[in-house]
Amino acid sequence: MSGLVLSEYHRLVVKVGSSLLVDEQGQLNRDWLEMLADDVAVLARDGHDVLIVSSGAIAIGSSVLGINKRRARLEDLQAAAAAGQIQLVHAYQEALGRHSIVAAQVLMTPDDTEDRRRFLNARRTFGKLLERSVVPIINENDTVATVEIRYGDNDRLAARIAQLVMADALVLLSDVDGLYSADPGSNPDAVHIPEVNSITSDTLAMAGETRSDVGTGGMATKVQAARIATRAGCATIIASGVISHPLQALKDGGRCTVFHASGTPAAARKQWLAGVLKVSGELQLDDGAVQALRTGNSLLPVGVTAVAGDFRRGDVVMLKDASGVEIGRGLAEYSGSEALRLAGCQSGQIEDALGYRGRSVMVHRDDLVLFDND
Ligand code: GLU
Repeated sequence: MSGLVLSEYHRLVVKVGSSLLVDEQGQLNRDWLEMLADDVAVLARDGHDVLIVSSGAIAIGSSVLGINKRRARLEDLQAAAAAGQIQLVHAYQEALGRHSIVAAQVLMTPDDTEDRRRFLNARRTFGKLLERSVVPIINENDTVATVEIRYGDNDRLAARIAQLVMADALVLLSDVDGLYSADPGSNPDAVHIPEVNSITSDTLAMAGETRSDVGTGGMATKVQAARIATRAGCATIIASGVISHPLQALKDGGRCTVFHASGTPAAARKQWLAGVLKVSGELQLDDGAVQALRTGNSLLPVGVTAVAGDFRRGDVVMLKDASGVEIGRGLAEYSGSEALRLAGCQSGQIEDALGYRGRSVMVHRDDLVLFDND
């Protein structure tokens, strides 16, 4: 039994490796996918938000197009991804549709998580999908990503998604049931490690010795993904997917390795915001807005009385009260020039002030930190 209690986590990112979903001939394992969908339906019914990061596009597409993966060039694999991705998501759509769950395809490139403007856009979109109980099926946009601009493996992509959506658990399903002290394939003394409280150089060294997956990600990439996620306040679980109903098995206490996060996603985000050195502008707020922020609300344009600085959407701005005292910081949803036009506007006036339909908040509550009484 693992010490994992899956029900304690609200928002789960589940990463599915190619080897679970696609056989050696490039055929999709529909029975397994249906069992995964059954598990996702149970989690969704119990109130969890679930996002799936799925590999398999290249494996399926190579078989569809008759491409030999071992001898293929990059552009062949990119073409394979285009042909395979459509089949992959269609299979998810069907499997989840049996439970009346709507699936949505999201294809990502690293810019979408590394550039703060796009990060905010992607985050709001995921937020809207999850609000509507849609299950996003996410993959790297392999068809256009080039070698220099790739996540490289879906373990890392899944960790970035977990950070983006402030998930509290990342489940990496693969062909191993966790981290071992050495490679269990070649060393009979290898010991399974059920829990990791902090990822050290020793943890990375153990992972280096453990072989896994026929996909791109080995155990080392899984531990690196765990490092990204746990720093963002998201626990990471490595578990076997080579079984029936893999998520239900985890719920029932099945064997896995849990990498614990030190805090919550919200705390990690606030800590990061408080520590950002480059502040690009300032927003001055009226007393009502300060009060609204202190009770956990977002900053609306109507509460902004002055704007300073030439900042861009996604930059960090200082938040000041009416007497000019810095009360916190946040990520601006608008650029400095847009913020100037919007300062003092009611929500209904935003479109007229900008000339296009904008967003309703100036700084979202998930993206701000208050220095006192926070
Ligand atoms: N994005 C690739 C695919 O769908 C897989 C990458 C990986 O397995 O890490 O085929």
